[in-house]
Amino acid sequence: MRWKVAWPQGAIFSYASGASRAMGDRQHLEERMAKAATDLRMDEVRLAKSSDPTPGDLLAGDVRNYALFLDCDGTLLDIAPTPNEVVVPAKLVETLVRIYKGLGGALAILTGRQLAEIDTLMKPAMFVGSGVHGGELRTTTGGAIARVATSLPASLVEEVIRRAQKLPGIIAEPKGPGLAVHYRLAPHLKDALEAELRGLLTQYPEGLVLCHGRKLFEIIPAGHSKGTALETILALPEFAGRRPIMIGDDMGDIPAFAAARHHGGVGLRVAGEQFGTDVELESPQRVFAWLTRFAEQLETAPRPRSS
Ligand SMILES: [Mg+2]
Repeated sequence: MRWKVAWPQGAIFSYASGASRAMGDRQHLEERMAKAATDLRMDEVRLAKSSDPTPGDLLAGDVRNYALFLDCDGTLLDIAPTPNEVVVPAKLVETLVRIYKGLGGALAILTGRQLAEIDTLMKPAMFVGSGVHGGELRTTTGGAIARVATSLPASLVEEVIRRAQKLPGIIAEPKGPGLAVHYRLAPHLKDALEAELRGLLTQYPEGLVLCHGRKLFEIIPAGHSKGTALETILALPEFAGRRPIMIGDDMGDIPAFAAARHHGGVGLRVAGEQFGTDVELESPQRVFAWLTRFAEQLETAPRPRSS
């Protein structure tokens, strides 16, 4: 099959995936993702071992056999006071597309945002990936976004918004299968907010979990995570057999680090409130620099001889 991706000024590039079973596999992906067995718990997941390869080690080898899984906020983009204020650095999207091409399509975004927001930020690229911590899935470049987790109860969303509006600086952000509540502008309210959200969740049936991210809490359906998303996407023809590299900055990325390691890959942490500074990549700027070198490596690596 052949994919096409729109790129700046209306230019189009395409490549052949060479995978005749692609569509057959995709038909069952949403179902498989909903049932993903790998419901990794954060407290069960180890962080990096000293023997894990460093970002430099990874660039020193042949980069063509990797699959890249990238968080967005705090990893590709600097955290902003509010989600709408993030700035996408010049050339970032172009660099991601170079890698996407060089890896034969094996680049995915794993985010807590809705994928539609990522599309807006990364315009005109529309990458394969997962949104809302595994609650959304896109399996083809530029393809439709499937919701694989059910929406939160409307009454819960309304109640959280109502309570947030009473707390200056607290921002509730509904996103279909999930709900983020940001306290970056009012950090002194963190404990009160957490108590309020935990109390509210006791009024609902089990199946919803409260996650703590960077200056935010998120209510998401149990059973979905960036780990389940990575597992599902790694089974796609463009990704299968590749060594996964997951890069992220937050607790929600830990299940994906574990899933990457489970498949012989690597998790790279980005510095921030969650992981401190003793990490593999010190900032989104360092991530961008590493990605730029990754793209260059891909483009200069000797091509295998065709037999
Ligand atoms: Mg992040």
